[in-house]
Amino acid sequence: MSYFKIINQGEEPNRLFIGGVHGKEGKSTIRALKNISDDDVGKGRLIIYNCDDTPYISTLKHEYYQSRIGKEILYLIDYYQPQVYIELHCYNKENYSRLTSPNRQKEQGVPPLIELEAGVLIGSVSPYIRTSLFKRDDICMTLEMPCDAGKKSLKAYVNVLKIISGSNNREELEDKMIRTYPPQVETAKRYAKEFFGDYPPF
Ligand SMILES: [Zn+2]
Repeated sequence: MSYFKIINQGEEPNRLFIGGVHGKEGKSTIRALKNISDDDVGKGRLIIYNCDDTPYISTLKHEYYQSRIGKEILYLIDYYQPQVYIELHCYNKENYSRLTSPNRQKEQGVPPLIELEAGVLIGSVSPYIRTSLFKRDDICMTLEMPCDAGKKSLKAYVNVLKIISGSNNREELEDKMIRTYPPQVETAKRYAKEFFGDYPPF
């Protein structure tokens, strides 16, 4: 059963967290999402949607957004118009090096993901939606953890989700992230600039 929850602390910003965007990833991401409580959310709203199993199609393929689940996600973005959009993914450990490879841009057309700690990775969302559905100053992030995440990875992943949930704007989020993960945020800034042009790191 898909999982849907809204934590409402006021009007704005709207944050949309989507867990398990494809394949069986929802089985893992729900473990993290269930750790977010009302107290973790700053001003505005947090909308949480965790997907059921679907066939695996990469979000880097146009085809994804024509699939049933892809269309559902487009609908949610259109309906809630989030200023903060987070995709929660998980990966099998054998894919770690492919996801973080410096050649990812050459091979997949997108920048490598960056490890924060304990196998938790951040990156941008699919170029298909980043520049067309969101404004430059909206916050968009992909978060990955190992699908069979142990305690340490899960804790780090949940911690990032709580930092995002509790931040009321980009400034607050960047401040907290830079304090917690300084070199990683610098790298994210560089990748965003190289890939999207005049874009912020998340
Ligand atoms: Zn994924």
